Amino acid sequence: MDEVLHTPVVVYDSADEYRPEPEPEPQPLPYCNGSVRIGIHTSIAGDISHALESAHNLGCNALQIFSASPRMWPRGGTRIGEADAARFRARRTELGLGPLVIHANYLINLASPDPVMRTRSIQAFHDELVRATALGADFLVVHPGCGIGNNPARAISDAAQALRQAARGIRFGTGPFRELHRGGLRILIENTSGMGTAIGSRFEELRAILDGVPDLPVGVCLDTAHAYAAGYDIRSESGLRQTIAALDRIIGLERVALVHANDLKTPFGSRVDRHAHIGRGTIGLDAFRRILRHPRLSAALLEGLPGRAFILEIPIDVHGDDRRNVRTLWELANVPRKLAPAAKKGFSMVRALRATPPPRKRAAKPAVPGKKLKG
Ligand SMILES: [Zn+2]
Ligand SMILES: [Zn+2]
Repeated sequence: MDEVLHTPVVVYDSADEYRPEPEPEPQPLPYCNGSVRIGIHTSIAGDISHALESAHNLGCNALQIFSASPRMWPRGGTRIGEADAARFRARRTELGLGPLVIHANYLINLASPDPVMRTRSIQAFHDELVRATALGADFLVVHPGCGIGNNPARAISDAAQALRQAARGIRFGTGPFRELHRGGLRILIENTSGMGTAIGSRFEELRAILDGVPDLPVGVCLDTAHAYAAGYDIRSESGLRQTIAALDRIIGLERVALVHANDLKTPFGSRVDRHAHIGRGTIGLDAFRRILRHPRLSAALLEGLPGRAFILEIPIDVHGDDRRNVRTLWELANVPRKLAPAAKKGFSMVRALRATPPPRKRAAKPAVPGKKLKG
């Protein structure tokens, strides 16, 4: 007891306390805050960073790009230089764009029975994964492939095996698939319209591919045009309800991280994939309103999947088609104009076809007073 009495009084200072360095909690990605995410496939022509400016100017807060030419086998160096990649990542953060989706090259066929084609596809998809990682992409979307001479079951197992081979050595996002806010790359298999021998038009086939890659973060991208062409009646209210229920039962909605919002030019069940502007196709505006506002397809915190986006892949035939379709999605999602990201007035990825009037004699026409004519 005496010892205790002689002990000098130590003033407690919380700063002296031993604290082991805590593992830094990764900062949740800002785009996964439950907000509506809308984007469009933007062009990388000229400079890959142009795609970011285009998405921003079109009033998007998400985007999809190709990371190389989509219809050519890349020759030689397909890697993106670190300086370009760093500039891209920094600008993307500045603009607050997310998710960043990369669509893989169309020539890749992970289910091909042809050994040369298969090897090429695996190599090209590996390169896609490397580029996606360099750019800091959240999702890499790929079509499941075509079995050609093989039956669907064989094509599915070939596709899964090809995915595993291509993914060797790649660093993916970790943690449960649905925790998109942790960041890192995830692969999304897109449903198809079922043209020819394409696999993946049925949710069961997508599920079977997912089951073949249990150790990889692989989810699904739902393309509305492909689903309708494949015979999922998302046009009617009851059909949409049934489709979402099937998607949830077979895949699990928490693994459907992306919706390609495209209308369809061909009829229901046609198995022919032709994208149309929102409201101008066979799916129609009312159906898209239900799709964009469906709580379980949303990015909302409780019922939806935070970080999920709607991305347009529509033909841009005339100046402004891109901006108008983005605007339509915001309206359908019930986001007031004031709250949606502002588009740059008059911006389009397609320049006006006649930016300058065709040369012809104009001398006969007197100049309109007060109207400035551009030289
Ligand atoms: Zn698509
Ligand atoms: Zn398509």
